[in-house]
Amino acid sequence: MKLGKYSMGIGDRFAHQGKAQLAALFLARRQGINITPVWNKSYREHTIIGTSPDTVRSEADAAVKKLLWDGPYFVDADHINLNTVDCFLESSDFFTLDVADSIGQAPDPVELDAFVRSCENYVGEIKIEGINESLQVSLEDVRRIGNKFLPAVQEAGKIYRHIADRKGEGNFITEVSVDESNEPQNPMELLFILCALAHEGISIQTIAPKFTGRFNKGVDYVGNVKQFTKEFNEDIAVIRFAVEQFGLPTDLKLSVHSGSDKFSLYGPIHNALRRFDAGVHLKTAGTTWLEELIGLASVGGDGLAIAKDIYEQALGRYEELCGPYSTVIDIDQNKLPTAGQVREWNGDGFTLTLRHNPTCEKYNLHFRQMLHLSYKIAAEMGQRFTGALEKHEAVIAEYVTENLFERHIQPIFLGQI
Ligand SMILES: [Zn+2]
Repeated sequence: MKLGKYSMGIGDRFAHQGKAQLAALFLARRQGINITPVWNKSYREHTIIGTSPDTVRSEADAAVKKLLWDGPYFVDADHINLNTVDCFLESSDFFTLDVADSIGQAPDPVELDAFVRSCENYVGEIKIEGINESLQVSLEDVRRIGNKFLPAVQEAGKIYRHIADRKGEGNFITEVSVDESNEPQNPMELLFILCALAHEGISIQTIAPKFTGRFNKGVDYVGNVKQFTKEFNEDIAVIRFAVEQFGLPTDLKLSVHSGSDKFSLYGPIHNALRRFDAGVHLKTAGTTWLEELIGLASVGGDGLAIAKDIYEQALGRYEELCGPYSTVIDIDQNKLPTAGQVREWNGDGFTLTLRHNPTCEKYNLHFRQMLHLSYKIAAEMGQRFTGALEKHEAVIAEYVTENLFERHIQPIFLGQI
Protein backbone atom coordinates (compact mmCIF):
# COMPACT_ATOMS: atom_id res chain seq x y z
CA MET A 1 0.00 0.00 0.00
CA LYS A 2 1.23 3.44 -0.90
CA LEU A 3 0.55 6.45 1.22
CA GLY A 4 1.64 8.97 -1.38
CA LYS A 5 4.19 11.74 -1.18
CA TYR A 6 1.98 14.17 0.70
CA SER A 7 -0.53 13.09 3.28
CA MET A 8 -2.41 14.63 6.14
CA GLY A 9 -3.79 13.22 9.31
CA ILE A 10 -7.20 14.77 9.66
CA GLY A 11 -8.52 13.73 13.03
CA ASP A 12 -12.16 14.33 13.68
CA ARG A 13 -13.12 13.65 17.26
CA PHE A 14 -16.89 13.62 16.72
CA ALA A 15 -16.93 12.15 13.21
CA HIS A 16 -19.09 14.91 11.77
CA GLN A 17 -16.61 16.81 9.57
CA GLY A 18 -15.31 14.16 7.17
CA LYS A 19 -16.80 15.89 4.15
CA ALA A 20 -15.66 19.37 5.22
CA GLN A 21 -12.14 18.01 5.72
CA LEU A 22 -12.11 16.25 2.39
CA ALA A 23 -13.31 19.47 0.74
CA ALA A 24 -10.00 21.07 1.77
CA LEU A 25 -8.09 18.33 -0.05
CA PHE A 26 -10.19 18.91 -3.13
CA LEU A 27 -9.16 22.57 -3.00
CA ALA A 28 -5.51 21.47 -2.85
CA ARG A 29 -6.04 19.17 -5.79
CA ARG A 30 -7.44 22.05 -7.79
CA GLN A 31 -4.11 23.78 -7.23
CA GLY A 32 -2.24 20.76 -8.48
CA ILE A 33 -1.29 19.13 -5.17
CA ASN A 34 -2.46 15.63 -4.28
CA ILE A 35 -2.66 15.02 -0.57
CA THR A 36 -3.81 11.69 0.82
CA PRO A 37 -6.33 12.07 3.64
CA VAL A 38 -5.79 9.89 6.68
CA TRP A 39 -8.52 9.91 9.29
CA ASN A 40 -6.70 9.37 12.53
CA LYS A 41 -8.09 8.81 15.99
CA SER A 42 -6.04 7.51 18.85
CA TYR A 43 -6.97 4.95 21.45
CA ARG A 44 -6.80 7.80 23.93
CA GLU A 45 -9.38 9.81 21.99
CA HIS A 46 -11.68 6.81 21.56
CA THR A 47 -11.50 6.12 25.27
CA ILE A 48 -12.18 9.71 26.26
CA ILE A 49 -15.08 10.11 23.85
CA GLY A 50 -16.45 6.60 24.22
CA THR A 51 -16.32 5.62 20.55
CA SER A 52 -15.05 2.54 18.78
CA PRO A 53 -12.62 2.49 15.83
CA ASP A 54 -15.21 1.30 13.29
CA THR A 55 -16.92 4.71 13.54
CA VAL A 56 -13.87 6.33 11.95
CA ARG A 57 -13.95 3.84 9.10
CA SER A 58 -17.65 4.54 8.51
CA GLU A 59 -17.06 8.27 8.54
CA ALA A 60 -14.14 8.08 6.10
CA ASP A 61 -15.97 5.73 3.73
CA ALA A 62 -19.10 7.89 3.81
CA ALA A 63 -17.22 11.15 3.12
CA VAL A 64 -15.26 9.56 0.27
CA LYS A 65 -18.39 8.12 -1.27
CA LYS A 66 -20.43 11.27 -0.91
CA LEU A 67 -17.81 13.58 -2.42
CA LEU A 68 -16.60 11.05 -5.00
CA TRP A 69 -13.00 11.19 -3.81
CA ASP A 70 -11.13 8.87 -6.15
CA GLY A 71 -7.67 9.05 -4.57
CA PRO A 72 -6.27 6.86 -1.83
CA TYR A 73 -7.36 7.41 1.77
CA PHE A 74 -6.63 5.68 5.03
CA VAL A 75 -7.87 5.17 8.56
CA ASP A 76 -5.13 5.47 11.15
CA ALA A 77 -5.05 3.60 14.44
CA ASP A 78 -3.15 6.43 16.02
CA HIS A 79 -0.75 5.90 18.92
CA ILE A 80 -1.50 2.26 19.52
CA ASN A 81 0.57 -0.36 21.32
CA LEU A 82 0.29 -4.11 21.84
CA ASN A 83 -2.40 -3.65 24.50
CA THR A 84 -4.62 -1.42 22.45
CA VAL A 85 -4.14 -2.47 18.82
CA ASP A 86 -6.65 -5.30 18.60
CA CYS A 87 -9.83 -3.25 18.43
CA PHE A 88 -8.35 -1.37 15.44
CA LEU A 89 -7.34 -4.38 13.35
CA GLU A 90 -10.58 -4.67 11.46
CA SER A 91 -11.22 -1.04 10.59
CA SER A 92 -7.74 0.48 10.18
CA ASP A 93 -5.27 0.24 7.34
CA PHE A 94 -2.73 2.61 8.85
CA PHE A 95 -1.13 1.94 12.23
CA THR A 96 0.90 4.37 14.30
CA LEU A 97 3.00 2.24 16.60
CA ASP A 98 3.71 4.34 19.66
CA VAL A 99 6.77 3.02 21.41
CA ALA A 100 7.81 6.16 23.30
CA ASP A 101 7.19 4.44 26.63
CA SER A 102 9.84 1.84 25.87
CA ILE A 103 12.54 4.44 25.32
CA GLY A 104 15.14 4.21 28.04
CA GLN A 105 14.25 0.68 29.14
CA ALA A 106 17.29 -1.53 29.57
CA PRO A 107 18.03 -3.62 26.48
CA ASP A 108 19.14 -7.22 26.59
CA PRO A 109 22.98 -6.95 26.73
CA VAL A 110 23.50 -9.66 24.11
CA GLU A 111 21.05 -8.02 21.74
CA LEU A 112 22.62 -4.65 22.35
CA ASP A 113 26.04 -6.06 21.48
CA ALA A 114 24.62 -7.56 18.31
CA PHE A 115 23.05 -4.23 17.38
CA VAL A 116 26.30 -2.36 17.94
CA ARG A 117 28.19 -4.89 15.83
CA SER A 118 25.64 -4.62 13.05
CA CYS A 119 26.25 -0.88 12.89
CA GLU A 120 30.03 -1.05 12.76
CA ASN A 121 30.08 0.02 9.11
CA TYR A 122 28.65 3.34 10.16
CA VAL A 123 31.24 4.17 12.77
CA GLY A 124 33.65 6.93 11.84
CA GLU A 125 33.02 9.80 9.51
CA ILE A 126 29.76 9.51 7.56
CA LYS A 127 29.06 11.84 4.71
CA ILE A 128 25.36 12.23 4.10
CA GLU A 129 24.19 14.10 1.05
CA GLY A 130 22.33 17.21 2.13
CA ILE A 131 24.13 17.60 5.44
CA ASN A 132 27.04 20.03 5.35
CA GLU A 133 29.24 18.66 8.08
CA SER A 134 29.78 14.93 8.05
CA LEU A 135 28.55 12.98 11.06
CA GLN A 136 31.26 11.80 13.41
CA VAL A 137 30.01 8.54 14.84
CA SER A 138 31.87 6.75 17.60
CA LEU A 139 31.24 3.23 18.83
CA GLU A 140 30.12 4.81 22.10
CA ASP A 141 27.51 6.83 20.20
CA VAL A 142 26.07 3.68 18.67
CA ARG A 143 26.05 1.91 22.03
CA ARG A 144 24.43 4.89 23.76
CA ILE A 145 21.74 5.13 21.08
CA GLY A 146 21.13 1.38 21.12
CA ASN A 147 20.95 1.42 24.88
CA LYS A 148 18.32 4.09 24.78
CA PHE A 149 16.22 3.06 21.78
CA LEU A 150 16.68 -0.65 21.06
CA PRO A 151 13.85 -1.85 23.34
CA ALA A 152 11.49 0.68 21.75
CA VAL A 153 12.38 -0.54 18.27
CA GLN A 154 11.96 -4.16 19.34
CA GLU A 155 8.56 -3.29 20.76
CA ALA A 156 7.64 -1.73 17.41
CA GLY A 157 8.70 -5.01 15.79
CA LYS A 158 6.38 -6.97 18.06
CA ILE A 159 3.42 -4.73 17.29
CA TYR A 160 4.22 -4.74 13.58
CA ARG A 161 4.35 -8.54 13.40
CA HIS A 162 1.16 -8.79 15.42
CA ILE A 163 -0.64 -6.59 12.89
CA ALA A 164 0.99 -8.29 9.91
CA ASP A 165 -0.16 -11.69 11.24
CA ARG A 166 -3.77 -10.54 11.15
CA LYS A 167 -3.88 -8.25 8.16
CA GLY A 168 -1.11 -9.65 6.01
CA GLU A 169 2.09 -7.83 5.23
CA GLY A 170 1.67 -5.07 2.68
CA ASN A 171 -2.00 -4.53 3.50
CA PHE A 172 -1.44 -1.60 5.84
CA ILE A 173 0.72 1.47 6.30
CA THR A 174 3.12 1.51 9.22
CA GLU A 175 4.20 4.56 11.13
CA VAL A 176 6.49 4.42 14.14
CA SER A 177 6.11 7.26 16.60
CA VAL A 178 8.37 8.36 19.38
CA ASP A 179 7.09 11.92 19.44
CA GLU A 180 5.53 11.70 22.87
CA SER A 181 8.85 11.06 24.57
CA ASN A 182 10.62 13.41 26.91
CA GLU A 183 13.59 14.37 24.78
CA PRO A 184 13.95 15.10 21.06
CA GLN A 185 15.93 12.72 18.87
CA ASN A 186 18.74 14.26 16.87
CA PRO A 187 19.56 13.22 13.29
CA MET A 188 22.27 10.78 14.38
CA GLU A 189 19.83 9.08 16.73
CA LEU A 190 17.27 8.94 13.94
CA LEU A 191 19.82 7.25 11.69
CA PHE A 192 20.46 4.42 14.12
CA ILE A 193 16.80 4.11 15.08
CA LEU A 194 16.10 3.56 11.37
CA CYS A 195 18.93 1.06 11.20
CA ALA A 196 17.40 -0.88 14.08
CA LEU A 197 13.91 -0.67 12.55
CA ALA A 198 15.29 -2.12 9.33
CA HIS A 199 16.84 -5.00 11.29
CA GLU A 200 13.44 -5.64 12.86
CA GLY A 201 12.05 -6.06 9.36
CA ILE A 202 9.47 -3.32 9.77
CA SER A 203 8.20 -1.98 6.49
CA ILE A 204 8.01 1.53 7.85
CA GLN A 205 6.55 4.29 5.70
CA THR A 206 6.46 7.19 8.13
CA ILE A 207 8.42 7.99 11.25
CA ALA A 208 7.41 10.55 13.83
CA PRO A 209 10.41 11.64 15.83
CA LYS A 210 10.19 14.16 18.59
CA PHE A 211 11.65 17.30 17.14
CA THR A 212 13.48 19.93 19.08
CA GLY A 213 11.19 22.51 20.75
CA ARG A 214 7.62 22.26 21.98
CA PHE A 215 4.82 20.95 19.76
CA ASN A 216 1.91 21.88 21.91
CA LYS A 217 -1.57 20.92 20.82
CA GLY A 218 -3.29 23.39 18.54
CA VAL A 219 -0.90 26.31 19.04
CA ASP A 220 2.26 27.57 17.40
CA TYR A 221 5.70 26.07 17.86
CA VAL A 222 7.68 27.14 20.88
CA GLY A 223 11.40 26.82 20.39
CA ASN A 224 14.33 27.68 18.20
CA VAL A 225 13.05 27.78 14.61
CA LYS A 226 16.56 27.89 13.19
CA GLN A 227 17.56 24.78 15.09
CA PHE A 228 14.33 23.02 14.08
CA THR A 229 14.94 23.91 10.44
CA LYS A 230 18.45 22.52 10.54
CA GLU A 231 17.29 19.29 12.18
CA PHE A 232 14.28 18.89 9.91
CA ASN A 233 16.50 19.18 6.84
CA GLU A 234 19.03 16.80 8.34
CA ASP A 235 16.31 14.32 9.27
CA ILE A 236 15.14 14.23 5.66
CA ALA A 237 18.72 13.72 4.51
CA VAL A 238 19.19 10.95 7.07
CA ILE A 239 16.00 9.23 5.90
CA ARG A 240 17.24 9.30 2.30
CA PHE A 241 20.52 7.82 3.38
CA ALA A 242 18.83 5.19 5.53
CA VAL A 243 16.50 4.13 2.72
CA GLU A 244 19.49 3.51 0.49
CA GLN A 245 21.72 1.91 3.06
CA PHE A 246 19.26 -0.19 5.03
CA GLY A 247 16.81 -1.09 2.27
CA LEU A 248 13.85 0.63 3.90
CA PRO A 249 10.78 1.46 1.78
CA THR A 250 11.70 4.13 -0.76
CA ASP A 251 8.72 6.30 0.17
CA LEU A 252 9.67 6.51 3.86
CA LYS A 253 9.04 10.05 5.10
CA LEU A 254 8.73 12.15 8.20
CA SER A 255 5.49 12.46 10.09
CA VAL A 256 4.91 15.64 12.05
CA HIS A 257 2.66 15.07 15.03
CA SER A 258 0.72 17.82 16.70
CA GLY A 259 1.43 19.38 13.34
CA SER A 260 -1.55 21.70 13.38
CA ASP A 261 -0.99 25.40 13.81
CA LYS A 262 2.82 25.32 13.80
CA PHE A 263 2.70 28.43 11.66
CA SER A 264 6.26 29.54 12.29
CA LEU A 265 7.55 26.19 10.99
CA TYR A 266 5.47 25.90 7.84
CA GLY A 267 7.77 28.08 5.74
CA PRO A 268 10.88 26.11 6.75
CA ILE A 269 9.04 22.79 6.28
CA HIS A 270 7.86 23.81 2.83
CA ASN A 271 11.38 24.87 1.84
CA ALA A 272 12.87 21.62 3.09
CA LEU A 273 10.33 19.56 1.14
CA ARG A 274 11.14 21.52 -1.99
CA ARG A 275 14.87 21.32 -1.45
CA PHE A 276 14.86 17.53 -1.16
CA ASP A 277 11.76 16.89 -3.25
CA ALA A 278 10.61 15.02 -0.15
CA GLY A 279 7.19 14.04 1.11
CA VAL A 280 5.68 14.52 4.54
CA HIS A 281 2.79 13.36 6.67
CA LEU A 282 1.26 16.11 8.75
CA LYS A 283 -1.02 15.12 11.59
CA THR A 284 -3.62 17.61 12.61
CA ALA A 285 -6.13 16.08 14.94
CA GLY A 286 -7.83 18.30 17.43
CA THR A 287 -8.12 21.55 15.55
CA THR A 288 -11.17 20.38 13.65
CA TRP A 289 -12.96 20.11 16.96
CA LEU A 290 -11.87 23.67 17.78
CA GLU A 291 -13.37 24.84 14.50
CA GLU A 292 -16.60 23.15 15.57
CA LEU A 293 -16.52 25.21 18.73
CA ILE A 294 -15.76 28.37 16.78
CA GLY A 295 -18.67 27.63 14.47
CA LEU A 296 -21.02 27.01 17.38
CA ALA A 297 -19.93 30.16 19.20
CA SER A 298 -20.25 32.24 16.06
CA VAL A 299 -23.94 31.41 15.56
CA GLY A 300 -24.76 32.68 19.06
CA GLY A 301 -27.82 31.36 20.91
CA ASP A 302 -27.72 27.64 21.67
CA GLY A 303 -24.35 27.23 19.94
CA LEU A 304 -22.63 29.89 21.99
CA ALA A 305 -24.22 28.58 25.16
CA ILE A 306 -22.75 25.13 24.49
CA ALA A 307 -19.29 26.56 23.82
CA LYS A 308 -19.37 28.59 27.04
CA ASP A 309 -20.69 25.67 29.02
CA ILE A 310 -17.86 23.43 27.84
CA TYR A 311 -15.27 25.97 28.88
CA GLU A 312 -16.81 26.57 32.27
CA GLN A 313 -16.96 22.86 33.05
CA ALA A 314 -13.41 22.40 31.76
CA LEU A 315 -12.08 24.95 34.21
CA GLY A 316 -13.43 22.88 37.06
CA ARG A 317 -11.82 19.69 35.72
CA TYR A 318 -8.44 21.09 34.80
CA GLU A 319 -6.21 18.34 36.21
CA GLU A 320 -8.31 15.52 34.84
CA LEU A 321 -8.39 16.96 31.31
CA CYS A 322 -4.72 17.93 31.16
CA GLY A 323 -3.40 14.65 32.58
CA PRO A 324 -3.30 12.58 29.36
CA TYR A 325 -1.71 15.46 27.45
CA SER A 326 0.95 16.65 29.87
CA THR A 327 3.84 16.34 27.38
CA VAL A 328 2.05 18.30 24.65
CA ILE A 329 0.48 21.28 26.38
CA ASP A 330 1.70 24.37 28.22
CA ILE A 331 -1.15 26.17 29.89
CA ASP A 332 -0.61 29.07 32.27
CA GLN A 333 -3.71 28.88 34.45
CA ASN A 334 -3.27 32.52 35.46
CA LYS A 335 -3.83 33.53 31.86
CA LEU A 336 -7.09 31.65 31.44
CA PRO A 337 -10.19 33.86 31.41
CA THR A 338 -12.50 33.15 34.32
CA ALA A 339 -15.89 31.53 33.86
CA GLY A 340 -17.46 34.83 34.87
CA GLN A 341 -15.61 36.73 32.17
CA VAL A 342 -16.52 34.21 29.49
CA ARG A 343 -20.17 34.30 30.51
CA GLU A 344 -20.23 37.97 29.50
CA TRP A 345 -18.83 37.38 26.02
CA ASN A 346 -20.78 37.50 22.79
CA GLY A 347 -19.96 35.19 19.87
CA ASP A 348 -17.11 37.39 18.68
CA GLY A 349 -15.60 37.51 22.14
CA PHE A 350 -15.45 33.72 22.19
CA THR A 351 -14.30 33.12 18.62
CA LEU A 352 -11.64 35.85 18.57
CA THR A 353 -10.13 34.53 21.79
CA LEU A 354 -10.16 30.97 20.48
CA ARG A 355 -9.28 31.30 16.81
CA HIS A 356 -5.58 30.98 16.09
CA ASN A 357 -4.99 34.38 14.58
CA PRO A 358 -1.63 35.51 15.97
CA THR A 359 -2.22 39.12 14.92
CA CYS A 360 -5.47 39.39 16.85
CA GLU A 361 -4.87 40.84 20.29
CA LYS A 362 -7.82 38.92 21.74
CA TYR A 363 -6.31 35.54 20.77
CA ASN A 364 -5.36 33.58 23.90
CA LEU A 365 -3.28 30.45 23.44
CA HIS A 366 -4.00 29.24 26.96
CA PHE A 367 -7.72 29.40 26.35
CA ARG A 368 -7.20 27.60 23.05
CA GLN A 369 -5.15 24.78 24.54
CA MET A 370 -7.61 24.38 27.40
CA LEU A 371 -10.48 23.96 24.98
CA HIS A 372 -8.39 21.66 22.81
CA LEU A 373 -8.36 19.21 25.71
CA SER A 374 -11.99 19.68 26.66
CA TYR A 375 -13.62 17.48 24.06
CA LYS A 376 -14.45 14.99 26.78
CA ILE A 377 -17.02 17.42 28.08
CA ALA A 378 -18.59 17.82 24.65
CA ALA A 379 -18.71 14.02 24.42
CA GLU A 380 -20.55 13.89 27.74
CA MET A 381 -23.12 16.34 26.41
CA GLY A 382 -24.03 13.71 23.85
CA GLN A 383 -26.97 14.71 21.70
CA ARG A 384 -26.93 18.32 22.90
CA PHE A 385 -23.52 18.72 21.29
CA THR A 386 -23.82 16.51 18.21
CA GLY A 387 -27.33 17.81 17.54
CA ALA A 388 -25.92 21.35 17.48
CA LEU A 389 -23.16 20.20 15.09
CA GLU A 390 -25.86 18.95 12.76
CA LYS A 391 -28.05 21.99 13.13
CA HIS A 392 -25.17 24.37 12.35
CA GLU A 393 -23.39 22.09 9.91
CA ALA A 394 -23.09 24.61 7.07
CA VAL A 395 -21.39 27.28 9.18
CA ILE A 396 -19.07 24.82 10.89
CA ALA A 397 -18.11 23.06 7.65
CA GLU A 398 -16.89 26.32 6.18
CA TYR A 399 -14.61 26.93 9.15
CA VAL A 400 -13.28 23.38 9.10
CA THR A 401 -12.42 23.51 5.40
CA GLU A 402 -10.92 26.98 5.63
CA ASN A 403 -8.77 26.03 8.62
CA LEU A 404 -7.28 23.00 6.89
CA PHE A 405 -6.83 24.66 3.53
CA GLU A 406 -5.79 28.22 4.32
CA ARG A 407 -3.90 27.75 7.54
CA HIS A 408 -2.30 24.37 6.84
CA ILE A 409 -2.33 23.19 3.23
CA GLN A 410 -1.51 26.52 1.64
CA PRO A 411 1.60 27.31 3.68
CA ILE A 412 3.01 23.78 3.87
CA PHE A 413 2.20 22.21 0.55
CA LEU A 414 1.70 25.23 -1.69
CA GLY A 415 4.23 27.59 -0.13
CA GLN A 416 1.60 30.31 0.21
CA ILE A 417 2.23 31.99 3.52
ZN1 LIG B 1 1.47 12.04 18.19
